[in-house]
Amino acid sequence: MKLSPVRYAAPTSVEEAVALLATCDAKIISGGQSLMPIMAFRLASPELLVDLKKIKGLGDIVLDSEGLHLGAKVKWIEIETDVRLKTAHPLLTKAIEHVAHYQIRNRGTVGGSLAHADPASEMPAIAACCDAVISVVGSGGLRKINAADFFVGALQTRLEPDEIIVKILLPPWPATRRWGFQEFSRRRGDFALAGIAAYFDVEPDGRATNAHIAVFGASDYQRRLTGAEAELNGKKPTADTFAAAARAAAAEVDPPSDIHAPADYRRALVETLTGRALADANR
Ligand SMILES: Cc1cc2nc3c(=O)[nH]c(=O)nc-3n(C[C@H](O)[C@H](O)[C@H](O)COP(=O)(O)OP(=O)(O)OC[C@H]3O[C@@H](n4cnc5c(N)ncnc54)[C@H](O)[C@@H]3O)c2cc1C
Repeated sequence: MKLSPVRYAAPTSVEEAVALLATCDAKIISGGQSLMPIMAFRLASPELLVDLKKIKGLGDIVLDSEGLHLGAKVKWIEIETDVRLKTAHPLLTKAIEHVAHYQIRNRGTVGGSLAHADPASEMPAIAACCDAVISVVGSGGLRKINAADFFVGALQTRLEPDEIIVKILLPPWPATRRWGFQEFSRRRGDFALAGIAAYFDVEPDGRATNAHIAVFGASDYQRRLTGAEAELNGKKPTADTFAAAARAAAAEVDPPSDIHAPADYRRALVETLTGRALADANR
């Protein structure tokens, strides 16, 4: 299908973009990789597209003592090719390898993915796993929203209609941190049927601490699996501990059934992928 007629604006500041969002049924467009297909199917027919492309300062990747700041317009390809990030945030770079195909990674953006909130997307999983903070600007000014509060359902977030994501902050990543990322999709580049992002630290006595395990694809939104994390914290990171955490993860999810996979299959994937991600982390 063709798109419904739509007006287009390319403001040069966030404030101007926010003001435009309040004028009518308007939508931000960033990479267009999710919005354009949705509009082509007429699942959305906004009156106005507000393009972020001329707004400066939303495309920065900054590493400082607060952690890793990714501007909303940062593209997947820019994360993939920034050599600093391979050591500064290896969990992120591993996850982004799994996002879609080259052409889509060349246009799709961090802000678009967070706002779209597809339950099978990798970036929201990293945000949830790493306790990221998402900065948004609207007519009420700047708000900082913890990832744990930001995602509320499939394709649903706490973003208000006149708010724009400006950046996400991932807290500092210690070099000694152990991490694993596993997803299963039918073909490379497809959305995941299920996936797990995980990390933990190790105390001087060899026990795991600070376990963070997040699910995507097998839940209505990306979230941490606190029951699975509890099986890991304070224990030696052994195969038995990982198996217990994996069982807890599977018990904790309530996956959807759809044309791609039934719920039971996705639950089994969560157990397998949690076990594998933790084993990878222990290498
Ligand atoms: C064939 C195909 C396969 C894909 N596979 C994957 C995959 O495996 N994993 C994955 O994660 N993604 C996948 N994607 C989606 C892709 O990563 C998108 O790029 C991403 O989800 C959206 O980013 P975008 O910049 O294109 O956003 P857009 O399409 O421009 O926008 C998406 C939504 O976010 C809103 N929005 C955009 N930017 C902002 C902002 N800064 N503030 C507030 N709202 C904003 C828009 O209004 C719109 O509602 C796939 C896409 C396609 C077409």
